[in-house]
Amino acid sequence: MLEPVTDPFALARALSAVHVIDGRLCAAHGGATFDVINPATSKVIGAAAAGDATDVDRAMAAAKGAQPAWAAMKARDRGKLVAACGARLAAHVEELGRLTALETGKALRTESRVEASVLADTFVYFGGLASELCGETIPFSPDMLAMTVREPLGVVAAILPWNAPLLLMALKIAPALVAGNTVVVKSAEEAPFGVLRVCQLLQEVLPKGVFNLLSGMGPACGAPLASHRDVAKVTFTGSVETGRLVYRAAAEKLVPVTLELGGKSPMIVMADADLERAVAGAVSGMRFTRQGQSCTAASRIFVQRALHDAFVEQLVARVDALVMGDPLDERTDIGTIVSPSQHATVQRYLKIGREAPGATAHACSRLPEDPALKDGLFVQPVIFTGLANDHTLCREEIFGPVTCVIAFDTYEEAIAMANDTDFGLAGTIWTRDLRTAMDAVKRLHAGFVQVNQNLVVQPMLSYGGFGQSGIGKEGSLSAMLDHFTHRKTILISML
Ligand code: NAD
Repeated sequence: MLEPVTDPFALARALSAVHVIDGRLCAAHGGATFDVINPATSKVIGAAAAGDATDVDRAMAAAKGAQPAWAAMKARDRGKLVAACGARLAAHVEELGRLTALETGKALRTESRVEASVLADTFVYFGGLASELCGETIPFSPDMLAMTVREPLGVVAAILPWNAPLLLMALKIAPALVAGNTVVVKSAEEAPFGVLRVCQLLQEVLPKGVFNLLSGMGPACGAPLASHRDVAKVTFTGSVETGRLVYRAAAEKLVPVTLELGGKSPMIVMADADLERAVAGAVSGMRFTRQGQSCTAASRIFVQRALHDAFVEQLVARVDALVMGDPLDERTDIGTIVSPSQHATVQRYLKIGREAPGATAHACSRLPEDPALKDGLFVQPVIFTGLANDHTLCREEIFGPVTCVIAFDTYEEAIAMANDTDFGLAGTIWTRDLRTAMDAVKRLHAGFVQVNQNLVVQPMLSYGGFGQSGIGKEGSLSAMLDHFTHRKTILISML
């Protein structure tokens, strides 16, 4: 059995240049690789295998070959194996947290260790749901037994982003596996090693070919995977633009897709809200400790005018107190942006915001002074005031530590602004008035609405958005049944 490796640098080197196909670590067929950096220093930490269409073919063949036997297992036995995956991963939380902190720049204490722990728990949760793969009996005719059964789809292709690679992979593959599908996963270019390590560890638990993992560039590896003739379903998390490409590829083949795309999530703070709680909720909701790199980030905060100035003052103070530094340092609250291109994107948006007439940019926290981090992709969190809801910064997903606080007078005005977006992923309302809260719950156009709190996605809760935020749900029993099984109708004559 593989033992935990506490040095993430050594682990990144050891995991370099390989995929996991049919239970084995193997190089990309052409031997090509691409560099992966530590965003806290911009130094190369390893090289990931650069997969292409041939590697996709190999992984798909392995998954297709393994699927009938996997689907033929007793559902509860499959579930027990998936739960055992959770137990296996629980023993590696520290290792996976450190590796994730190293490659994504997300601080170990506030983000990466927590993510590794939820990864393990997600496998345990879905493993327990195997006995819920039930069909129905239908009172169609006294002469017939009418029923439905749930069947797996076949091979599921999962294409991952870099912002929460461990968790987002678990939300896709744990339910897919429990339902009797096998999987081929493509990791994000920026974060290939954490999910690769998960796949390597789980080869000790799962039959070979059930869980295959490729790394590679989007067009060279993701595109042939999404359009592969044997893929029965594609589940994707990432940008709206790539989501459209994946949807088109699936449409050609007429296979189902789940798309988890972006967001521009509103947070409405009424004047009667508990100010301190709302401010704490804005800090966690905006995911400042993840550098705002979250699709549910509360990137538009509407505050009723009477509370606006106090709210901004307290929010700036709270974010200012967060410590930015080496993601692997236990004292660090905020790490780095994931990649140079994402860093440049955030800087571009900050420039646009700072140049907007009437805008004030409240830059918080301090860039690290450690010379070892001088080339790190750090960005100070910025809270903008004075921007209108139709400004670019309030319309486009920045995926960085940038939020806009906008004052409003009436509740109706706040609801109208909150819903004036192409996205519909998440939203929150902060008030002591139950009627206002319940009205907002009904009217906010978002797949995930919370009152007086701003929790991150958790297994057991359906998660997924409307509009440009995507299609389908993940994370729950109903999501597993709806998105990873077919419902077959069966009629048996009793005559
Ligand atoms: P992206 O959509 O380009 O990449 C996501 C995944 O898709 C990666 O694994 C990538 O290799 C793959 N991919 C790229 N092109 C592909 C193609 N033609 N066919 C199949 N797969 C392909 O996203 P990104 O560049 O990593 O991030 C850009 C933006 O996406 C961010 O700024 C953010 O707005 C958004 N994003 C959203 C989420 C989310 O959770 N909703 C996560 C990450 C990024």
